[in-house]
Amino acid sequence: MHGVEGFYGSAVQLKLLEQLGDANTELNIRYVFIHAVNPFGFSRLRRFNEDNVDLNRNFLTTEVEFEGTPSDYVRLNRFLNPESSPSCFELFKLKAMWNIFRHGLQPLKQALAGGQYDYPQGVFFGGHAPCQSTKVIYENCDSWIGESNQIIHIDLHTGLGPFAKYKLLLTETADSAEYPWYIETFGKNCVEPMNAPHLTSYQVNGIFGDWLREHFASRQYRFVTAEFGTYDIIRVFGAIRTENRVHHYGVEDSAIYKSTKTEILECFCPSDKSWRKQVVRSGLDIIFQAEKRLKADTLKESPQNPIKTNILSVSAC
Ligand SMILES: [Zn+2]
Repeated sequence: MHGVEGFYGSAVQLKLLEQLGDANTELNIRYVFIHAVNPFGFSRLRRFNEDNVDLNRNFLTTEVEFEGTPSDYVRLNRFLNPESSPSCFELFKLKAMWNIFRHGLQPLKQALAGGQYDYPQGVFFGGHAPCQSTKVIYENCDSWIGESNQIIHIDLHTGLGPFAKYKLLLTETADSAEYPWYIETFGKNCVEPMNAPHLTSYQVNGIFGDWLREHFASRQYRFVTAEFGTYDIIRVFGAIRTENRVHHYGVEDSAIYKSTKTEILECFCPSDKSWRKQVVRSGLDIIFQAEKRLKADTLKESPQNPIKTNILSVSAC
């Protein structure tokens, strides 16, 4: 989904492939790996794709139009999306602190990152129609899921939250019928329901999980967005904003272009070896928790339909 975040997800997928034997087959669990949904962003070290679209704002559910922008985003547009190449001396942090002071961090996060559909060169643009990558998912997800009734989908992301720690963000609220299942499976401390106080996340339009859960409404499609923290939110947002400027207005291979790409890579895949080791280990732990739960749930059921397969889907964003 988010190009430059794909290094982390791919590392988990590779580690998992090394560890997977055929032990699962007797319990009818199939793994689906969704790799590099946003190849352009992955190769160009950017969050957004070839159409400048944030793919995780492009999966609008039915009856939602590709239009609209939060009013705070409109007001802050000039700060968010300057129409010039970045310079080395911009007082970004000061400007960002001033805006947080005026508006508060959570409303600002919500206004900025929730998705917008009116500024095609701006950050967090959700597109005007489904993108090529989105269509690939539309066209293939039925065959990937097959006849399965139970699906656990783990969508791996980086860049939100404390360094090397993680949260599993749900699209359900704490009072939903599904919430207890998630905390039993993954533990209360790391599961964050929608609309929780002190959110790591923000409410977002057009996310992958919402679309999949609607599409597979007749199945048990459980979806978590696993967010692994890197640096503080101002630094991470600053990297996204500067990269977007350099992408639209900068000169490829100039010094500022290269330093901007280095910084965004660092923000979404820190070079710190202990971070890398910890997050891959945690990523595998989450997957094995999910696998354990699928096995337990499978054993509980009577084998009325022996060909039914359960799915553990891991997407590297
Ligand atoms: Zn992401």
